[in-house]
Amino acid sequence: MNYSASQIAGILNTVAPAIPDSEIDTLLTDSRALTYPGKSLFFALTTATNDGHRFISGLIDCGVRNFVVKNLPDRQPEGVNFFRVDDVDKALLDIAAFHRRQFSIPVVGITGSRGKTIVKEWINAVLRHYRHTTRSPRSFNSHIGVPLSVWGLEPDTETAIFEAGISAKGEMELLEEVIGPTIGVLTNIGDAHDGGFRDHREKCLEKLKLFRGCKALIYCADDPVVTDTVAQSAMTAELIAWSRTGVEGAIRVTTEEATAGTRLIIYYDGTPFDAVLNFKDAASVENAINAIITLLYLGLSPEQIAAHTGEFRHIDTRLDVIEGVRDCMLIRDSFTNDLDSLEVALDFMTRRLTPDRKSTLILGGFDIDAKDRSAVYKKLMTLLERKNISRLIGIGDDFAAYTGAFSGDVRFFADVPQFLKEMSQKDFNSELILVKGTPGSDIHEVSEMLEARQHETVLEVNLDAIVHNFNEFRSRIRPTTGIVAMVKAFGYGAGSYELAKTLQSQGAAYLAVAVADEGADLRRAGITMPILVLNPRVDSYPMMFEHNLEPEIFSFGLLDQFISEGQRQGVRNYPIHIKLDTGMHRLGFLEKDMPELVRRLQAQDVVSPKSVFSHLAAADDPMMDDYTMEQFALFKRCSDMLQEGFSHHILRHILNSTGITRFPEYQYDMVRLGICLYGIATMDDGSQDGLQPVSSLKTAIISLKEWPAGTTIGYNRRGLLKRDSRIATIPIGYADGMNRHLGNGHTSVFINGHRCPTVGNICMDACMIDVTDVKCEVGDKVEVFGPNIPAEEIAQILDTIPYEVLTSVSARVKRVYYRE
Ligand SMILES: *Cc1c(COP(=O)(O)O)cnc(C)c1O
Repeated sequence: MNYSASQIAGILNTVAPAIPDSEIDTLLTDSRALTYPGKSLFFALTTATNDGHRFISGLIDCGVRNFVVKNLPDRQPEGVNFFRVDDVDKALLDIAAFHRRQFSIPVVGITGSRGKTIVKEWINAVLRHYRHTTRSPRSFNSHIGVPLSVWGLEPDTETAIFEAGISAKGEMELLEEVIGPTIGVLTNIGDAHDGGFRDHREKCLEKLKLFRGCKALIYCADDPVVTDTVAQSAMTAELIAWSRTGVEGAIRVTTEEATAGTRLIIYYDGTPFDAVLNFKDAASVENAINAIITLLYLGLSPEQIAAHTGEFRHIDTRLDVIEGVRDCMLIRDSFTNDLDSLEVALDFMTRRLTPDRKSTLILGGFDIDAKDRSAVYKKLMTLLERKNISRLIGIGDDFAAYTGAFSGDVRFFADVPQFLKEMSQKDFNSELILVKGTPGSDIHEVSEMLEARQHETVLEVNLDAIVHNFNEFRSRIRPTTGIVAMVKAFGYGAGSYELAKTLQSQGAAYLAVAVADEGADLRRAGITMPILVLNPRVDSYPMMFEHNLEPEIFSFGLLDQFISEGQRQGVRNYPIHIKLDTGMHRLGFLEKDMPELVRRLQAQDVVSPKSVFSHLAAADDPMMDDYTMEQFALFKRCSDMLQEGFSHHILRHILNSTGITRFPEYQYDMVRLGICLYGIATMDDGSQDGLQPVSSLKTAIISLKEWPAGTTIGYNRRGLLKRDSRIATIPIGYADGMNRHLGNGHTSVFINGHRCPTVGNICMDACMIDVTDVKCEVGDKVEVFGPNIPAEEIAQILDTIPYEVLTSVSARVKRVYYRE
């Protein structure tokens, strides 16, 4: 994967580059992932929210010398190559496709709604013992992830395994050209990512386009839609269907429950594959069958495969970010432990690094063959050096001999117990710590030691769902309309910093916080985007100027005070946001105030109106639409009056989440997205069905007891058992935000697939649950609200709104952030 600049120009059909023999070995699509500047080729990709061209000059300063661009910069410094193309996305695909064509090896292409990453990892878990394989890192399967994966093909690659994921029609053809699979695997067509497709069948047809050049296609024949669609699609590949229900012509597969897991027999060819897998759940068994049949097709013998199916482990693609001890942040990564997956985790880490923290990597040894050791560890050290990692702690595998290229602190431990014996929380201080080891090993004990709060109740926040919801709302408005992301009240309870970081990178125009302190915290953590403070207080004005926070101005008193503080600070044209009261009757200027407001603003140059806005009082109530229309009319009149007084354009915004859904025609320059960002629907007419839940309040069973009928549970003996019962105690009480009105069976929690009611009164730090009808043990997970018990349902029980449920989770509950 080493190309010269002139070769790149040849592939892209562009004019000869200024420095033709400049070497390129890394494709860079995200400026923040920069590791090897000298040999990187940067693609200035343009998305709905961001324009890669903005990063070019910064990258030149960092030493990048090769750029694929749509628009040439005005100033082109010497010694830098610009490849000008009409479509930068396409150029990325073209280069990867060219690279792919240099190889005539078996390439496995995997697609489907679920299981792509697991099937890929499991094929690799076995195959890597017999052949040199290249595969997609983690779940790199998008139109950007796929070319980056294919670029990883090396001269000695013998077999490649790539996954492809799509969200809209037309994408798969492009990915097919890049991957060029010779063997296809269709995992499963569920209803994940349904968005861009009319139905199951259309989605299936689109996915099958990946396989049009394949010699063989492996799939399960037990889903009739899949079988029909494959038949219709006139596939030229040999069809290798398998079935557990005896579908004719398909490979027969039988499964039966065994003590340790599942016994699996596959009647592939000659000697059947016969082994016991150490799991029972249907989805994992299906993934294993797809992986094993692929391996059999690739020519491995049943014995060769069975020798390594013990390495089929549950794979968690999540990267968790949690608060650590002593001002540390922890990133937990439970994905497979190898260099490619580590590199992605390090990128994730560097993006989260704030100036006040150093970065530390705690690494359990890689699972690698002895012959590759030296090369892999050398690469690792270079990588750590490039990523500016300050400290490396190695556990379980002594790679001290290879640390030459790394200048940070290094320490090694024989195993986790030794680490725990010799290191304590005191050895860590203001660090961002990535803990990565083989999944299923005892490396988790390391992160547990470093976790801030051992309390087992956590609020899990899915950052991917935030991104999804943000984009779902973005697609409802014009591309040029800005989004003010409301992160007030500690991000509606979900925690503001991680959200702000995520929203900043998604291209939100503004963040809005309730008070100046929240904004200052975000600034200290490195958030640079504009921040609007909804409720500025006099004592916080100096802080606002110091941190560049922009106030909402809702009265003449506030305006005058802010102007005089501005004068003291010596500022000019400081941005402020004018709040109008058009009907909410909470805060804001009235129509009659407008002439005076314009006069006072014109009479000074300390502050300048950046935007003018108002808030709808009843956007979600169709019965009140006449009132809402009056609000819109009043807003237009008042904001016009303000605008007429100034020559610069003043931004206008009035819509909240429900407003965007119901009245997109009033979007003006910006909209303010709140509750829907957090996955809560405010309309039940289907208009917001695409939202994904963001927060789950989870805890775990800490005690289980059997009690005879007639026993009473809890304070005031309110929980009287009517039958012999099994009662679990969970460590969450009203001090955590578990409202006392949820006691005595008023709500249920979700345990192992079942709803289980509360028993007796909720205590301050705990409550009791009836689990008589459910199999469970101490330590089992409990969902209080989340995907199975919607926060909306809790709100109904409490006769309140979901906003209150979300913001009531108390600060002592640890927040855990994750991305898929
Ligand atoms: C909270 C708030 C919003 C967001 O409202 P949602 O209903 O959560 O979308 C918008 N504007 C203002 C002024 C707010 O205070």
